[in-house]
Amino acid sequence: MRKIITCIGIRPDIIRLSQIIKILDKHFKNVIVDSGQHYDYNLNKIFYDQLNVREPDYNLDIKSGTHATQVANLMIEFEKTLNKEKPEFVIVLGDNNSSLGFALATSKLNIPLVHIESGMRSKNWLMPEEKNRIVIDHLADMNICYLPEHKENLLREGLNPRRSWIVGNPIIEVVNAVKTNFKQEEPFYLVTCHRAENTEQKQNLELILLFLGKLYEKHQKEIKFILMPKTKNYMEKFGLKFPEGINPIPPQGFLEFLGMEKEAELVITDSGTVVEECAILGTPCLTIRESTERVDLIQLGINCLTGINVEKMLEAGEFILSKEIEPVSHYGKNIAEKICNILLGNSLEFYNNKER
Ligand code: UDP
Repeated sequence: MRKIITCIGIRPDIIRLSQIIKILDKHFKNVIVDSGQHYDYNLNKIFYDQLNVREPDYNLDIKSGTHATQVANLMIEFEKTLNKEKPEFVIVLGDNNSSLGFALATSKLNIPLVHIESGMRSKNWLMPEEKNRIVIDHLADMNICYLPEHKENLLREGLNPRRSWIVGNPIIEVVNAVKTNFKQEEPFYLVTCHRAENTEQKQNLELILLFLGKLYEKHQKEIKFILMPKTKNYMEKFGLKFPEGINPIPPQGFLEFLGMEKEAELVITDSGTVVEECAILGTPCLTIRESTERVDLIQLGINCLTGINVEKMLEAGEFILSKEIEPVSHYGKNIAEKICNILLGNSLEFYNNKER
């Protein structure tokens, strides 16, 4: 059997790869490597358990640190794994620091690299994720895109069209595959907020909390705020408190959280995956950021991009609550199978050559 490595960086990678790994396992000798960037049970192992993903073969245990520390440590550790396992090719997904470290180590050894979630662009160069995804896309030998506009982004940057495939968005297969287990009679809103731009700057975090306080004053609906350790640390550092009506809760398992997304009257988030899940479930959703790489959802009117401005966030909230949200229909189907077929049907060596 052809030997490959599938890399897992952080929580959303386990979720998004869960169905893909099951199909790859049937056709390849698939070595799973987890970076260890997320190491708490409720940010890592719970997703393997709930989504029936087998244990990783390697955990590189890189934990947290500055961007440079994380990427550098990951490269050093992953290079050892690559030299030992000698895979035919390596699969990375997304735009986190681990994905970048995996991609750099692979490419430096001239091992063919496959990037899933290729071609998304926020056009915001100050986002760490934008830098990561552009570098990974340009290192990759095969670019697997979700949507046609993502491939167009790659072509605009001069990448070879013969290296890109459009397969649809695998998150829809994950959402369809699981049964959620959350129930609550009382209406509520749901918030996730942990992106660097919203947590590391006091002003933005303060404005978001102010907005949530005003939203509660107006609607008197409980606001559940998923409090990630990182956001908690910054709130303490900046001396910020939750306004009345905001109920901080710890990170949830996927089955619980997806159920909350389904039941919530409104979701407010700076996450990339949460907006997609809300679009699939037909839940009104605000993106509280200055820019987004999920441009399709904004253009379809399923999601509102608010910027970090209290008035605009409040206005957008009223607007999206007044709208009938049609669940998305452009994410495609048989995505995991398509990805596997592309990998089975192509010799990766063909793409990994002098000619770009
Ligand atoms: N999620 C979860 N529990 C939570 C919050 C989020 O299972 O308490 C899931 C959510 O359903 C989505 C993913 O984690 O699939 C989003 O992760 P995150 O926002 O960290 O990453 P991003 O999508 O922004 O890369």
